[in-house]
Amino acid sequence: MTSEQWIAKSDQYIMKTYGRYPIVPVRGEGSRLWDADGKEYLDFLGGVAVNNLGHCHPRVVKALQEQAAELIHCSNYYQIPQQIELAELLCSHCFADKAFFCNSGAEANEAAIKLARKYSRDKFGPERYEIITAAESFHGRTMATVSATGQEKVQRFFDPLLHGFTHVPFNDAAALAAAVTPNTCAVMLEPIQGEGGVNVPSPDYFHEVRGICDRHGLLLIFDEVQVGMGRTGRLFAHEHFGVTPDIMTLAKALAGGAPIGAMLARDEFAASFTPGTHGSTFGGNPLVCAAAIATLRTIMEEGILNRTEEIGEYLMGELEILGRRYPFVQGVRGIGLMIGMSLAVPGAEIVKKGHDRGVLLNVTHDTVLRFVPPLVVTRQEIDRMIAILDGIFAEVEA
Ligand SMILES: *Cc1c(COP(=O)(O)O)cnc(C)c1O
Repeated sequence: MTSEQWIAKSDQYIMKTYGRYPIVPVRGEGSRLWDADGKEYLDFLGGVAVNNLGHCHPRVVKALQEQAAELIHCSNYYQIPQQIELAELLCSHCFADKAFFCNSGAEANEAAIKLARKYSRDKFGPERYEIITAAESFHGRTMATVSATGQEKVQRFFDPLLHGFTHVPFNDAAALAAAVTPNTCAVMLEPIQGEGGVNVPSPDYFHEVRGICDRHGLLLIFDEVQVGMGRTGRLFAHEHFGVTPDIMTLAKALAGGAPIGAMLARDEFAASFTPGTHGSTFGGNPLVCAAAIATLRTIMEEGILNRTEEIGEYLMGELEILGRRYPFVQGVRGIGLMIGMSLAVPGAEIVKKGHDRGVLLNVTHDTVLRFVPPLVVTRQEIDRMIAILDGIFAEVEA
């Protein structure tokens, strides 16, 4: 079938929750995708920071194929070796002692919210359940994570929201301190805001946040769903800030494109999740865990983190050079391959022009071009994208 035929069928059968572009990708390799008509695209969105190892990385494909032939699913009533191995791997690379697995970023954040509430209830009693999050944050689309999210456009139409979330401006420790009440149990933040427009906080911010949490006995939750798994050149973005959370959530890139979520915590907090308090049918099944193990091993064994730091600096530098030539470009920011370019004009038209010319671009928060390509993107691919973007910017300027 052609792209046009697929799109007509999609209109008939798929709910319209997304403003989908008229592109039908059917095959991928590295940073490239091909659509149903055979047109090639350079992918600078990477499945929204999911395809960190590129599309169909051979080690992930092999792990999925081998595990699929062995055991795809098994209930969490039993012990799952791939899940145990993945938990050990993750915990050996961060502050955490234990992991809980689910199927998405929203579910990982749900688990974090439930664990924070359960721990606080166990320790301080039932009044202490409020969680402070940031304005312009994004934590997911379930009711609890919509309530946690600091964006009206995500929340509207779904009242009443879940009670107990307070939003404060991001990168403002004083505002956060002022929002703490005797009922606060936790603070949940993205180390770098993704959907909010690639917002990097000042170097001291998380130190101050950690201090506030310690003074009031609050859990610090980092939502690393978008920025974790090597995206910033470190395995986890919070490493850049020298601040350790009590709970961390992961999803997007964790299993190289297979659906998974993880909530990691230190033992003191993890102990509050006793049998029957939380669960998931699919969470951490053998298939996705095998993919995640292969993904994590590849990142650690193939020098992906150093590479990301280098290639990220290159992309950032090229974007800055390009941006200086166009007055409507306001600035470039980010860490590693988590990069935003803020514009004085809406980005939607630029994204469309990119599609026509064979590059998948992305705009978030209306005016921020977000670059989250696979971490294996090459200099040549960056050069090609920059040349295309230059052509598009020249038209926008005219
Ligand atoms: C994508 C994202 C989520 C939600 O993840 P889903 O897998 O779509 O549920 C949560 N938090 C952040 C920071 C994200 O970028």
